[in-house]
Amino acid sequence: MADFTDKVGLIVGVANHRSLAWAIAQATANAGAKLILTYQGRFEEHVGELAATLDPKPTVLPCDVTSDEQIAAVFERIEQDHGGLDFLVHGAAFAAREEITGGFLKTTREGFKQALDVSAYSLIALTRGAQPLMAKRGGGSVVTLTFLGSDRVFPNYNVMGVAKAALESSVRYLAADLGPENIRVNAISAGPVKTLAAAGIGGFSSILGVVREKAPLRRAIETSEVGDTAAFLLSHAGRGITGEVIMVDAGYHIIGM
Ligand code: NAD
Repeated sequence: MADFTDKVGLIVGVANHRSLAWAIAQATANAGAKLILTYQGRFEEHVGELAATLDPKPTVLPCDVTSDEQIAAVFERIEQDHGGLDFLVHGAAFAAREEITGGFLKTTREGFKQALDVSAYSLIALTRGAQPLMAKRGGGSVVTLTFLGSDRVFPNYNVMGVAKAALESSVRYLAADLGPENIRVNAISAGPVKTLAAAGIGGFSSILGVVREKAPLRRAIETSEVGDTAAFLLSHAGRGITGEVIMVDAGYHIIGM
């Protein structure tokens, strides 16, 4: 069991109790972490209610990851309150519904920019904000969330697959940049889970059905399994791992047919 006593963590990407980022918040808070949770506009109430269930109660701040001002305000507040930061969880992703419905060929320039900005560039922007605060602690750990659609074609994943490929590549470049400062950067590639983001993907239930049928463990994953793997990567136990994409998918990715 990881120990996060005296550790401060920023978690971006909680929308509701189904969010993968919420499972990570629970896993790290239950092990003693002091958390800062951010929300995107309309999720303020939900995130506030969830935060109130954790002890110690996290600070809850707004952060739209497309806004450099909001990102800067989050790190200023963390510096004021805590003086440093030990870990960052990045669980934000978005593509417009019309971009992930039907053919990939009709991806628009705007839709492409938006998906890559929210889902991939934001990792770079947030890690840049975290870096000086982690340096003050002698190092840190960053975890983001990705999906096998970066590498293989899934129906209706489309531009989000391209965004996840960019995200995974960003993990490697960030890991190389920040390794000398003892800051590690990794991704968890989660199997499909019914969350709000997943609800936007047409035919998601059939993807889930195939995974349940074919994955070596013959089941889909639970969000707590992502929470536990993230806690491992964010903790001292993960200290030798950086630039990696860890599969938490009940083994689905190893199957040929
Ligand atoms: P979710 O809907 O609970 O989380 C997505 C989050 O992205 C939400 O909190 C939303 O507010 C946030 N977000 C979107 N646009 C934003 C913006 N402009 N600024 C700030 N935040 C913004 O769904 P989830 O499935 O928990 O997704 C979390 C991460 O996990 C995503 O990167 C997703 O691609 C990834 N993932 C999900 C699955 C799955 O099957 N659910 C599988 C693998 C990876």
